[in-house]
Amino acid sequence: MARINSDYLKLPGSYLFSEIGRRVRTYQAEHPEADVIRLGIGDVTQPIAPAIIDSLHAAVEEMGHPESFKGYAPDLGYEFLRQKIAVYDYKARGCEISAEEIFVSDGAKCDCANIQEIFSTENRIAVCDPVYPVYVDSNVMAGRTGEYDPAAGCYKDVIYMPCTAENGFAPDLPEQTPDLIYLCFPNNPTGAVMKKEQLQKWVDYANRNGSVILYDAAYEAYIAEEDVPHSIYECEGAKTCAIEFRSFSKTAGFTGLRLGFTVIPKELILEGVSLWSLWARRHGTKYNGAPYIIQRAGEAVYSQAGQAQIRAQISYYMENAKYIRENLHSAGYTVSGGVNAPYIWLKTPENMTSWEFFDHLLAGANVVGTPGSGFGPGGEHYFRLTAFGSRENTVEAVNRIIRI
Ligand code: PLP
Repeated sequence: MARINSDYLKLPGSYLFSEIGRRVRTYQAEHPEADVIRLGIGDVTQPIAPAIIDSLHAAVEEMGHPESFKGYAPDLGYEFLRQKIAVYDYKARGCEISAEEIFVSDGAKCDCANIQEIFSTENRIAVCDPVYPVYVDSNVMAGRTGEYDPAAGCYKDVIYMPCTAENGFAPDLPEQTPDLIYLCFPNNPTGAVMKKEQLQKWVDYANRNGSVILYDAAYEAYIAEEDVPHSIYECEGAKTCAIEFRSFSKTAGFTGLRLGFTVIPKELILEGVSLWSLWARRHGTKYNGAPYIIQRAGEAVYSQAGQAQIRAQISYYMENAKYIRENLHSAGYTVSGGVNAPYIWLKTPENMTSWEFFDHLLAGANVVGTPGSGFGPGGEHYFRLTAFGSRENTVEAVNRIIRI
């Protein structure tokens, strides 16, 4: 008789965004006249930049002719894109990452969920609390987390690293030593960053203990301050202890096109085995490559026109972030983030729980955000707003929040 993977049953019932959707639908059914503004789910709203659209059109055209048609893409990505990534994302920042160490994929979510497959199920993971839920859930599915404790909102065998106002939402080194350490900076959901010397401490710690850092830099393009690293490989010694994930989703609006990549340096060896070779094997077995036309679109991101256009989009979102941060702060809210990240993390007023504040905003201002508690117990009494809306909606939402 076939059996299910019962580890899936350990996942708590409703996923954050379905519960948000359910509450919004219920509210709208009762108040059909309400003009609800969503600053909740982290999807972009600006269209794809013209230089990228031109490249997409050209690649589509190539597909229609026998001499330029492309079938299966190379498993690890086309050389034209991997070279651009190596030069512009790494060499330009002083990091020695070769094109061969870059694995192109259809996004960072799959990669950061799938990477755990190349590690033993015996490994103990550490995550920030609050955290992007994919890291924990993918390890639950793999049977690495132990039972869920609903009262604590935690899995028994996971090391949760509190990210609080006191530590600037950047975790301290944990007391118990983890095997795999998930770090995401600029952070979703808090919008916090680590300065280079802070991240260097993590790299040194991982190298000392034989741990591997799984570094999610999906929001790297939003970094505005000088001393914030764009890549973990800016830290000395990171090539022997860190894997990095990147995404075109928020950098260039590819949430619908789908493109990302993972970097595994050849020097990253565990038990005498190169993690590069394991991930290459996994990619080759389970993945047939990101589409040619999308990789051509990704290449256009690095063109002069592409860079200018995506920088303008990012500035647009970051103006939204500034508007939210400054105006809510002036209105008496405690806010952080929104300087090097498109997320604003606000403390709920009057000790409301995250979901109480969600309902309060929905009913009082017709604004939807994301309850911090959905990202882990450390997110309770916090709330996430995103800068990805239109300017008009962002301004209107903030003004409504201030009025209630
Ligand atoms: N990593 C983080 C921290 C994210 O917030 C997101 C998207 O919300 C992703 C990865 C997913 O990126 P992609 O769209 O490339 O799958």
